[in-house]
Amino acid sequence: VHPGDGVIAAELIQRAEAAMYDAKRAGRNLVRFYRQSLTERAGARLALESRLRRALAADGFSMHYQPIVDMRSGRVVGAEALVRLKDADGPAAPSEFIPILEDSDLIVELGDWVRREVCRQGRRWLDEGRSFDLLAVNMSPEEIRRGGLVERLTGVLAETGFPPGRLELEITESSLIAHAEETLAMFRAISALGVGLSIDDFGTGYSSLSYLKRFPVNKLKIDASFVHDLPHDPNDVQLTATIIELGRSLGLKVLAEGVEKPVQRHFLAAQGCDYYQGHLCSPPLPGEEFARRFLPPAEGER
Ligand code: C2E
Ligand code: MG
Ligand code: MG
Repeated sequence: VHPGDGVIAAELIQRAEAAMYDAKRAGRNLVRFYRQSLTERAGARLALESRLRRALAADGFSMHYQPIVDMRSGRVVGAEALVRLKDADGPAAPSEFIPILEDSDLIVELGDWVRREVCRQGRRWLDEGRSFDLLAVNMSPEEIRRGGLVERLTGVLAETGFPPGRLELEITESSLIAHAEETLAMFRAISALGVGLSIDDFGTGYSSLSYLKRFPVNKLKIDASFVHDLPHDPNDVQLTATIIELGRSLGLKVLAEGVEKPVQRHFLAAQGCDYYQGHLCSPPLPGEEFARRFLPPAEGER
């Protein structure tokens, strides 16, 4: 709005554009006015984007591993691998930088790096006599949309010698629905390689029973937001119990995310939930520390 938001045309247009991006981010089809914080946000985003490009070019990412625990036995059966930006410019969460990478082909580069790194690490652990059932890796829906993923995954498995049966790929429930047909074809191909598939953040995406039956998935991961207020919130009690029952009747394993307290684990175990992750066992850890604490080498290899 002239003259408050700018006196010259170039300035007004630039700020109108910032307002437009703000409206798109907020869900599209909306009216948004410019405010000073939008310029600051655009600057921060640009700075983060150049950090990410530098990190991709110069080995600036690392993987952390969070234990996946068998509810009944308490045994750590494996881990979920979560990416971290390791440069010195302070922390940046994946939920902050993944969306920026998803706006360009950089997400393909990161996804390939992540899977190669995890498969290499896993192969090394197996060679050291450290046994585990699975390593899980997150996958962006943008990687599916951009194609070629199955071929590149096949390449990484061959190159690293990591057993496909011990790899699991996670995709969020909402992206499964948004790209159903492409995803279905790709899931079938991935499944044919022997790699497992799980639905992440389950309960937030409104998928239907027919999806769950059609897609070759092994596991549902209950979103942490439903676990947080267990066992006090009656809605969450209902919802988690229903998801666990749903999993059982479809022959899928069910994992609860974000388990922080013994009462939560206790409730979920009583419902028949198969696995959990969360700070109750451990936050995500650098590979070396994860292996030292949770994957002791077998006798004779020490
Ligand atoms: P996600 O896959 O659902 O991962 C679970 C998130 O919950 C992780 O956050 C983890 O650190 C956090 N968490 C684990 N235990 C607890 C707990 O007890 N309490 C609470 N409050 N949080 C817990 P993180 O590492 O920040 O990752 C956020 C999201 O970023 C992930 O959600 C995933 O969607 C995405 N992401 C992470 N790594 C990758 C990656 O390599 N590739 C892709 N495409 N996405 C990734
Ligand atoms: Mg995940
Ligand atoms: Mg999740």
